Amino acid sequence: PEIEHVPNDNTLLGKYDVGKLLGCGAFAKVYHARDVRTGHSVAVKVINKKKLSTPSLISNIKREISIMRRLNHPHIVKLHEVLASKSKIYFIMDYIKGGELFAKVAKGRFSEDLSRKFFQQLISAVGYCHSRGVFHRDLKPENLLLGENGNLKVSDFGLSAVKGQIRPDGLLHTLCGTPAYVAPEILTKKGYDGAKVDVWSCGVILFVLNAGYLPFNDPNLMAMYKKIYKGEYRCPKWMSADLKRFLSRLLDTNPETRITVDEILKDPWFKKGFKEIKWCE
Ligand code: ADP
Ligand code: MG
Repeated sequence: PEIEHVPNDNTLLGKYDVGKLLGCGAFAKVYHARDVRTGHSVAVKVINKKKLSTPSLISNIKREISIMRRLNHPHIVKLHEVLASKSKIYFIMDYIKGGELFAKVAKGRFSEDLSRKFFQQLISAVGYCHSRGVFHRDLKPENLLLGENGNLKVSDFGLSAVKGQIRPDGLLHTLCGTPAYVAPEILTKKGYDGAKVDVWSCGVILFVLNAGYLPFNDPNLMAMYKKIYKGEYRCPKWMSADLKRFLSRLLDTNPETRITVDEILKDPWFKKGFKEIKWCE
Protein backbone atom coordinates (compact mmCIF):
# COMPACT_ATOMS: atom_id res chain seq x y z
CA PRO A 1 0.00 0.00 0.00
CA GLU A 2 1.19 3.47 -0.92
CA ILE A 3 1.81 6.20 1.61
CA GLU A 4 -0.26 9.34 1.03
CA HIS A 5 1.86 12.32 0.04
CA VAL A 6 0.76 15.75 1.15
CA PRO A 7 3.25 18.62 1.08
CA ASN A 8 2.37 20.67 4.14
CA ASP A 9 2.57 19.16 7.63
CA ASN A 10 -0.08 21.47 9.12
CA THR A 11 -2.76 20.67 6.55
CA LEU A 12 -1.69 17.07 6.70
CA LEU A 13 -2.20 16.77 10.44
CA GLY A 14 -5.16 19.19 10.45
CA LYS A 15 -7.53 16.43 11.53
CA TYR A 16 -5.53 16.00 14.73
CA ASP A 17 -4.78 18.24 17.62
CA VAL A 18 -1.29 17.09 18.63
CA GLY A 19 -0.47 17.27 22.33
CA LYS A 20 2.15 15.96 24.72
CA LEU A 21 5.08 13.66 24.03
CA LEU A 22 4.37 10.08 25.12
CA GLY A 23 7.67 8.43 24.43
CA CYS A 24 10.79 8.28 22.34
CA GLY A 25 12.58 5.47 20.61
CA ALA A 26 15.60 5.20 18.39
CA PHE A 27 13.86 6.57 15.30
CA ALA A 28 10.62 8.06 16.42
CA LYS A 29 8.83 10.39 18.77
CA VAL A 30 5.30 9.46 19.79
CA TYR A 31 2.71 12.12 20.73
CA HIS A 32 -0.78 12.06 22.12
CA ALA A 33 -3.31 13.67 19.77
CA ARG A 34 -7.04 14.19 19.54
CA ASP A 35 -9.12 13.63 16.45
CA VAL A 36 -10.67 17.09 16.15
CA ARG A 37 -13.90 15.78 14.65
CA THR A 38 -14.63 12.81 16.94
CA GLY A 39 -12.70 13.86 20.04
CA HIS A 40 -11.07 10.41 20.19
CA SER A 41 -7.50 10.06 21.40
CA VAL A 42 -4.85 8.68 19.06
CA ALA A 43 -1.09 8.24 19.24
CA VAL A 44 1.00 9.81 16.47
CA LYS A 45 4.39 8.26 15.81
CA VAL A 46 6.55 10.79 13.99
CA ILE A 47 9.52 9.56 12.00
CA ASN A 48 11.97 12.10 10.67
CA LYS A 49 12.88 11.12 7.11
CA LYS A 50 16.37 12.60 7.63
CA LYS A 51 17.05 9.76 10.07
CA LEU A 52 16.27 7.20 7.36
CA SER A 53 19.73 7.53 5.91
CA THR A 54 20.13 4.07 4.39
CA PRO A 55 17.97 1.97 2.04
CA SER A 56 17.61 -0.66 4.77
CA LEU A 57 16.18 1.88 7.25
CA ILE A 58 13.66 2.96 4.61
CA SER A 59 12.70 -0.63 3.89
CA ASN A 60 12.30 -1.23 7.66
CA ILE A 61 9.68 1.55 7.83
CA LYS A 62 7.86 0.27 4.76
CA ARG A 63 7.83 -3.20 6.29
CA GLU A 64 6.59 -1.87 9.64
CA ILE A 65 3.69 -0.19 7.82
CA SER A 66 2.70 -3.16 5.70
CA ILE A 67 2.95 -5.57 8.63
CA MET A 68 0.98 -3.39 11.05
CA ARG A 69 -1.76 -2.88 8.46
CA ARG A 70 -2.26 -6.63 8.22
CA LEU A 71 -2.48 -7.30 11.94
CA ASN A 72 -5.78 -7.14 13.75
CA HIS A 73 -5.65 -8.58 17.26
CA PRO A 74 -6.88 -7.39 20.68
CA HIS A 75 -3.32 -7.49 22.04
CA ILE A 76 -1.59 -5.69 19.17
CA VAL A 77 -1.60 -1.89 18.77
CA LYS A 78 -3.80 -0.96 15.82
CA LEU A 79 -2.48 1.28 13.04
CA HIS A 80 -5.20 3.53 11.59
CA GLU A 81 -3.44 5.49 8.88
CA VAL A 82 -0.07 6.60 7.63
CA LEU A 83 0.58 10.15 6.42
CA ALA A 84 3.74 11.53 4.90
CA SER A 85 5.09 15.00 4.19
CA LYS A 86 8.37 15.99 2.56
CA SER A 87 10.27 15.58 5.79
CA LYS A 88 8.22 13.29 8.03
CA ILE A 89 6.16 10.12 8.22
CA TYR A 90 3.24 9.95 10.66
CA PHE A 91 1.70 6.73 11.99
CA ILE A 92 -1.76 7.31 13.42
CA MET A 93 -2.35 4.53 15.99
CA ASP A 94 -4.61 3.60 18.85
CA TYR A 95 -3.65 5.58 21.92
CA ILE A 96 -2.70 3.14 24.69
CA LYS A 97 -3.10 5.12 27.85
CA GLY A 98 -1.39 2.95 30.47
CA GLY A 99 2.15 3.51 29.21
CA GLU A 100 4.94 0.95 28.98
CA LEU A 101 4.86 -2.33 30.90
CA PHE A 102 8.50 -1.51 31.53
CA ALA A 103 7.59 1.50 33.70
CA LYS A 104 5.13 -0.58 35.72
CA VAL A 105 7.52 -3.47 36.40
CA ALA A 106 10.30 -0.98 37.23
CA LYS A 107 8.15 0.11 40.19
CA GLY A 108 7.98 -3.41 41.55
CA ARG A 109 7.87 -7.02 40.40
CA PHE A 110 4.56 -8.76 39.68
CA SER A 111 3.00 -11.74 41.43
CA GLU A 112 3.16 -15.04 39.59
CA ASP A 113 -0.53 -14.82 38.67
CA LEU A 114 -0.21 -11.30 37.23
CA SER A 115 2.98 -12.28 35.38
CA ARG A 116 1.06 -15.20 33.90
CA LYS A 117 -1.85 -12.99 32.83
CA PHE A 118 0.46 -10.63 30.89
CA PHE A 119 2.43 -13.56 29.49
CA GLN A 120 -0.75 -15.25 28.22
CA GLN A 121 -1.76 -12.04 26.41
CA LEU A 122 1.75 -11.70 24.98
CA ILE A 123 1.78 -15.28 23.68
CA SER A 124 -1.68 -14.85 22.20
CA ALA A 125 -0.39 -11.87 20.17
CA VAL A 126 2.94 -13.50 19.29
CA GLY A 127 1.24 -16.75 18.19
CA TYR A 128 -1.13 -14.72 16.01
CA CYS A 129 1.86 -12.96 14.36
CA HIS A 130 3.77 -16.20 13.81
CA SER A 131 0.75 -17.89 12.25
CA ARG A 132 0.79 -15.03 9.71
CA GLY A 133 4.53 -15.36 9.11
CA VAL A 134 5.38 -12.20 11.06
CA PHE A 135 8.24 -12.18 13.58
CA HIS A 136 8.55 -9.21 15.91
CA ARG A 137 12.26 -9.56 16.79
CA ASP A 138 12.26 -6.74 19.36
CA LEU A 139 9.99 -8.00 22.13
CA LYS A 140 10.77 -6.30 25.44
CA PRO A 141 8.75 -4.51 28.16
CA GLU A 142 9.43 -1.10 26.51
CA ASN A 143 7.47 -2.26 23.47
CA LEU A 144 4.56 -3.70 25.47
CA LEU A 145 1.95 -1.10 26.36
CA LEU A 146 -0.87 -1.23 28.88
CA GLY A 147 -4.36 -0.49 27.63
CA GLU A 148 -7.82 -0.38 29.19
CA ASN A 149 -8.30 -2.73 32.16
CA GLY A 150 -4.58 -3.45 32.24
CA ASN A 151 -4.68 -5.20 28.87
CA LEU A 152 -1.32 -5.71 27.22
CA LYS A 153 -0.71 -4.41 23.67
CA VAL A 154 2.31 -5.35 21.59
CA SER A 155 3.73 -2.37 19.68
CA ASP A 156 6.73 -1.28 17.64
CA PHE A 157 7.05 -3.59 14.67
CA GLY A 158 10.02 -1.52 13.49
CA LEU A 159 12.38 -4.51 13.51
CA SER A 160 9.91 -7.18 12.49
CA ALA A 161 10.40 -9.55 9.59
CA VAL A 162 8.12 -11.49 7.32
CA LYS A 163 8.45 -15.02 6.05
CA GLY A 164 9.20 -15.00 2.34
CA GLN A 165 11.50 -12.03 2.77
CA ILE A 166 13.77 -14.51 4.48
CA ARG A 167 16.80 -15.97 2.68
CA PRO A 168 16.53 -19.34 0.86
CA ASP A 169 17.84 -21.30 3.86
CA GLY A 170 14.72 -20.10 5.70
CA LEU A 171 16.76 -18.31 8.32
CA LEU A 172 16.99 -14.66 9.25
CA HIS A 173 20.43 -13.09 9.31
CA THR A 174 19.99 -9.53 10.49
CA LEU A 175 21.48 -8.80 13.90
CA CYS A 176 18.72 -7.12 15.80
CA GLY A 177 16.89 -6.76 19.05
CA THR A 178 18.01 -5.29 22.33
CA PRO A 179 21.08 -6.88 24.00
CA ALA A 180 19.42 -8.23 27.16
CA TYR A 181 16.55 -9.84 25.22
CA VAL A 182 18.56 -11.28 22.34
CA ALA A 183 18.60 -15.08 21.85
CA PRO A 184 21.96 -16.89 22.00
CA GLU A 185 21.75 -18.12 18.39
CA ILE A 186 21.61 -14.51 17.16
CA LEU A 187 25.02 -13.93 18.76
CA THR A 188 26.67 -16.69 16.72
CA LYS A 189 25.61 -14.99 13.45
CA LYS A 190 24.86 -18.29 11.72
CA GLY A 191 21.26 -17.37 10.99
CA TYR A 192 18.24 -17.98 13.14
CA ASP A 193 14.55 -18.83 13.14
CA GLY A 194 12.34 -15.77 13.77
CA ALA A 195 9.78 -17.73 15.79
CA LYS A 196 12.42 -19.22 18.11
CA VAL A 197 14.04 -15.88 18.91
CA ASP A 198 10.65 -14.34 19.74
CA VAL A 199 10.00 -17.24 22.15
CA TRP A 200 13.37 -16.59 23.82
CA SER A 201 12.55 -12.87 24.26
CA CYS A 202 9.17 -13.85 25.74
CA GLY A 203 11.08 -16.00 28.24
CA VAL A 204 13.27 -13.04 29.24
CA ILE A 205 10.14 -10.88 29.59
CA LEU A 206 8.38 -13.47 31.78
CA PHE A 207 11.47 -13.68 33.99
CA VAL A 208 11.59 -9.87 34.35
CA LEU A 209 7.87 -9.65 35.22
CA ASN A 210 8.11 -12.04 38.17
CA ALA A 211 11.74 -11.46 39.25
CA GLY A 212 11.84 -7.68 38.79
CA TYR A 213 15.30 -7.86 37.22
CA LEU A 214 16.92 -9.20 34.04
CA PRO A 215 17.98 -12.87 33.90
CA PHE A 216 21.11 -12.01 31.91
CA ASN A 217 22.74 -8.78 32.93
CA ASP A 218 26.18 -7.28 33.25
CA PRO A 219 27.55 -3.74 32.94
CA ASN A 220 30.00 -5.20 30.44
CA LEU A 221 28.21 -6.08 27.18
CA MET A 222 30.54 -8.93 26.26
CA ALA A 223 30.08 -10.45 29.73
CA MET A 224 26.28 -10.17 29.26
CA TYR A 225 26.49 -11.95 25.91
CA LYS A 226 28.57 -14.69 27.49
CA LYS A 227 25.86 -15.29 30.11
CA ILE A 228 23.19 -15.40 27.39
CA TYR A 229 25.27 -17.77 25.30
CA LYS A 230 25.73 -20.13 28.24
CA GLY A 231 22.15 -19.66 29.43
CA GLU A 232 23.43 -18.68 32.87
CA TYR A 233 20.70 -17.20 35.06
CA ARG A 234 19.49 -17.54 38.64
CA CYS A 235 15.87 -17.57 39.70
CA PRO A 236 14.80 -15.65 42.80
CA LYS A 237 13.70 -17.67 45.81
CA TRP A 238 10.01 -16.72 45.50
CA MET A 239 9.64 -18.34 42.08
CA SER A 240 7.57 -21.55 42.10
CA ALA A 241 9.18 -24.79 40.94
CA ASP A 242 6.65 -24.98 38.12
CA LEU A 243 7.52 -21.50 36.82
CA LYS A 244 11.25 -22.31 37.06
CA ARG A 245 10.65 -25.43 35.01
CA PHE A 246 8.61 -23.50 32.43
CA LEU A 247 11.28 -20.76 32.18
CA SER A 248 13.99 -23.36 31.59
CA ARG A 249 11.99 -24.48 28.52
CA LEU A 250 11.73 -20.89 27.19
CA LEU A 251 15.35 -19.98 27.99
CA ASP A 252 16.75 -23.14 26.43
CA THR A 253 19.91 -22.00 24.60
CA ASN A 254 19.37 -24.68 21.96
CA PRO A 255 16.74 -23.36 19.50
CA GLU A 256 16.06 -26.92 18.31
CA THR A 257 14.84 -28.10 21.71
CA ARG A 258 13.41 -24.75 22.93
CA ILE A 259 9.67 -24.82 23.56
CA THR A 260 7.48 -23.67 20.63
CA VAL A 261 4.36 -21.48 20.83
CA ASP A 262 2.16 -24.55 20.25
CA GLU A 263 3.83 -26.33 23.17
CA ILE A 264 3.56 -23.21 25.36
CA LEU A 265 -0.22 -23.25 24.83
CA LYS A 266 -0.32 -26.78 26.28
CA ASP A 267 2.00 -26.17 29.23
CA PRO A 268 0.39 -26.59 32.70
CA TRP A 269 1.97 -23.40 34.13
CA PHE A 270 0.79 -21.39 31.13
CA LYS A 271 -2.70 -22.85 30.86
CA LYS A 272 -3.91 -21.89 34.31
CA GLY A 273 -6.91 -19.58 33.80
CA PHE A 274 -6.12 -19.08 30.10
CA LYS A 275 -9.03 -18.04 27.93
CA GLU A 276 -8.54 -18.42 24.20
CA ILE A 277 -8.65 -14.98 22.69
CA LYS A 278 -10.81 -14.54 19.63
CA TRP A 279 -9.84 -12.07 16.93
CA CYS A 280 -11.24 -10.79 13.67
CA GLU A 281 -9.73 -11.82 10.36
P1 ADP B 1 10.73 3.21 18.33
O1 ADP B 1 10.53 2.43 17.07
O2 ADP B 1 11.52 4.46 18.04
O3 ADP B 1 11.26 2.39 19.47
P2 ADP B 1 8.08 2.99 19.48
O4 ADP B 1 7.02 2.63 18.50
O5 ADP B 1 8.59 1.90 20.37
O6 ADP B 1 9.28 3.75 18.75
O7 ADP B 1 7.52 4.17 20.40
C1 ADP B 1 8.36 4.80 21.37
C2 ADP B 1 7.60 4.94 22.70
O8 ADP B 1 6.40 5.74 22.53
C3 ADP B 1 7.08 3.63 23.29
O9 ADP B 1 8.09 2.96 24.02
C4 ADP B 1 5.91 4.12 24.15
O10 ADP B 1 6.37 4.66 25.38
C5 ADP B 1 5.33 5.27 23.34
N1 ADP B 1 4.23 4.79 22.47
C6 ADP B 1 4.38 4.19 21.27
N2 ADP B 1 3.18 3.86 20.72
C7 ADP B 1 2.23 4.28 21.60
C8 ADP B 1 0.78 4.21 21.61
N3 ADP B 1 0.11 3.67 20.59
N4 ADP B 1 0.14 4.73 22.69
C9 ADP B 1 0.84 5.25 23.71
N5 ADP B 1 2.19 5.34 23.77
C10 ADP B 1 2.90 4.87 22.73
MG1 MG C 1 10.43 0.88 20.67
